Amino acid sequence: MGRSAVLGVYPLAYRIELWRSKREIGGKGARVIGLRSVWTARGPSPHILYPDCVPELPEVETIVRGLDKRATGDTIESVWIGSRKQPLKSPAGVIASTLEGKRIVRVHRAGKHIVFDLEKAAQPKKGRGTDAKTAQWIVHLGMTGRMVVCESAAEIAKHTHLIAKMTSGRELRFIDPRMFGKLSVHIQPESGGFDPGGVEPLEVSEEQFIALFRGRKTPIKSALLNQKLLRGVGNIYADESLFRTGIRPRRRAAAITRQQLAELHRAVREVLREAIALGGSSISDYVDANGEEGFFQLQHRVYGREGEPCLVCGTAIRRVVLAGRSSHYCSKCQK
Ligand SMILES: [Zn+2]
Repeated sequence: MGRSAVLGVYPLAYRIELWRSKREIGGKGARVIGLRSVWTARGPSPHILYPDCVPELPEVETIVRGLDKRATGDTIESVWIGSRKQPLKSPAGVIASTLEGKRIVRVHRAGKHIVFDLEKAAQPKKGRGTDAKTAQWIVHLGMTGRMVVCESAAEIAKHTHLIAKMTSGRELRFIDPRMFGKLSVHIQPESGGFDPGGVEPLEVSEEQFIALFRGRKTPIKSALLNQKLLRGVGNIYADESLFRTGIRPRRRAAAITRQQLAELHRAVREVLREAIALGGSSISDYVDANGEEGFFQLQHRVYGREGEPCLVCGTAIRRVVLAGRSSHYCSKCQK
């Protein structure tokens, strides 16, 4: 299947492989090989390193914008749910009856969750759907999840767990080989709607940010990854923000000055905004809602660059493991 043929039907069955260095595929002596795309229906292969790389806030934002553009206004007619229970965080029957007969009012992001705001369609098909007037469909992509909009004729990819057929003839499909993704519905959004906890990093004020981190005894990197504080900041963007602020990942949050926390606040937002502007910077196999690869790499200054020279001072970038996650930093630029 050629690339153009695939794009014509908004494919769901391809993945993008980014082989970023030999080190990551098992060799020594890190050297960036570059980027190549592989068009295949297979799931992720075991050589993808950095297994802790889940789609982060910018990738989810990119996907959400694509879904909002392509699915908002459409009505879900019927839902097919596969037999695998792992991705289902609400019972299959409840998911199906909540989605069927609902119009998609808006698709937005809450932390790393995709949220579909739904309302009862004007004339739902008889016998379909619940009586709830409004509801929310919550999708978390986990590590390898994909959410795509495609024509109903498009080939169904392996590991497809849910298909929502819409009145336009298009389908929303959730595909997830490793099944760390989550599908659920939230039936009473009037009571405040779905809330994953934590504060949105792009909305947090400087004062709020300082209050979240001041006095914490944990390493600042762990605090940045704590989803109960800020939601959606993941490993890549935490490392990049700390580099821009000159703070070592292992430093205790309590030992960071107010001034530095204010700088970190700016850096986190700056890094996330840049990545969103580039369409996310996934290193794994995510596609946007159009089925297009769409993700361009934010030039990582430290993340994934172990052993390579710091772009500022030339010192070799170091990697340490903090709470099971890789952290990358420059020992000269970051104190
Ligand atoms: Zn440096």
